[in-house]
Amino acid sequence: MRSTGNSDRAPTVVGAVIVCAGTGSRSGLPYNKVLHYIGQKTAVELVLDAFSRSCASRTVLVSSPADERRMSEIAEQYQNVTVCVGGATRAESVKLGLDALGACDIAVIHDGARPFVTPELIQSTVDSAIEHGSGVAAVRAVDTVKRVSGKKIIAHLDRSELYCMQTPQTFRYSEIYAAYESLGSSAYECTDDAEVYGRAGHSACVVDGSYRNIKLTTASDLFRAMPLGIKIGVGFDVHKLVAGRKLILGGIDIPFEKGLDGHSDADVLTHAVMDALLSAAGLPDIGVLFPDTDDRFLGASSMKLLGEVTERVRAEGTIRSVSAVVIAQRPKFAGYISSMRKSLATALGIDERSVNVSATTTEHLGIIGDGEAIAASASCLLEDK
Ligand code: MG
Repeated sequence: MRSTGNSDRAPTVVGAVIVCAGTGSRSGLPYNKVLHYIGQKTAVELVLDAFSRSCASRTVLVSSPADERRMSEIAEQYQNVTVCVGGATRAESVKLGLDALGACDIAVIHDGARPFVTPELIQSTVDSAIEHGSGVAAVRAVDTVKRVSGKKIIAHLDRSELYCMQTPQTFRYSEIYAAYESLGSSAYECTDDAEVYGRAGHSACVVDGSYRNIKLTTASDLFRAMPLGIKIGVGFDVHKLVAGRKLILGGIDIPFEKGLDGHSDADVLTHAVMDALLSAAGLPDIGVLFPDTDDRFLGASSMKLLGEVTERVRAEGTIRSVSAVVIAQRPKFAGYISSMRKSLATALGIDERSVNVSATTTEHLGIIGDGEAIAASASCLLEDK
C-alpha cells in the first residue's frame, strides 16, 4: 500500500472519494458529464489516471444508480478502485463515499467532473492536510463579485479576499467523517466539504489550485475541456504507374496491370501519411529521412518506414487521427479501403476508427486521369505531449 509522510513516523494512509453521482443536467448532455470523452478518455478516467499516479492507495467512485454498471467497468481498469452508490445531494454522496472508503489517515475528496486534476495538486492538498488538518484547492477570484438582491447590487465585495473553491478538498479522515456525522442531514445543503468542515467548527486551509482545474458544468465548459495543443499535419505524394511493378497502397497488394514506380515499394498512400505525421510533429519529411539516393531504402517496405516514422512522431505527441485520399483513375479501390485502414491503423498503433481512407478520380483530367500516375494526400491530428 502506498503511503506518504516522514519515514521515521508511521506511514500516512491516504484514501480518495471521487464524486460522480450527478446527472449533469446543466451541461445539456443526455448522459452524466463525467462520462464525456475528452480526447480518447472520459472525464472520470482522466481523474482516475491522476489519482493512480498519486499517493492515494485506495479510491471509491461514488456513482448514481443509473451509472453503476459503467462506473464498475471503468473502475476495473484500475487497481484498488471500488464503486458505491451515492445519494440525492453531493454531500450525501460524499458521506456514503467516506463510509465505503473506511477509516484511513487522510481523505481526498474530489469531483469526477474536474478532469484536469494533477498528482501534484493532489499531493499539495495532502501535504497541507498532514500539516494543518486540511488542504482545499482554491484559486483567487478573477471577476469582481457583488452581492445582489433582486436586480440591485447591495454589497461590493473586496476581491482580494475572495477565492473560488475547487477540489480536491483534503482532510484528516477522522475530522471530516465526524463533521459529516455531527451535521447529519443538515450537511446535505452544503455545496462543498470545506463548508461541512467549517460548520463542524473547523477552519479549512486553502492551497493554490489551478485555473486549468475546471469543473465541467455547462456546455461551454465541455468546449473549454477540448484537448489543447492539437497540431495538424499535411502530406502529398505522386508516383508514376509503370508495367512490371506491384501496386501497393497502405501496405495492401492490389491486383492491377501496372504498379507504382519508385526507389522504395512506391506506396504513395503510405508516403503521404508519413509526410502528414512528420509535418504535424515539425520533423523533416521522408525525402530527408529516407533519401532515394540511399541504397538502404531500395525496394524498402513503406509500412516498415511508417513504423519508424510513427516511433519518431510519438516522441513528439499522441497521434489522434489520420485521414487520407487516394487520387487515381483506375483501378477502383472500394473493396480494399477497409484493409488499407486496418493496415495503416496497425502500423500507427491507433484505433481503426481514427484512420480514414477514401478514393477519388480526376474525371479523366491530367496525368492521373490518363492513368499515368496515382497521387495521395493525407492529413493528421497530433496532440502535443
Ligand atoms: Mg513517394
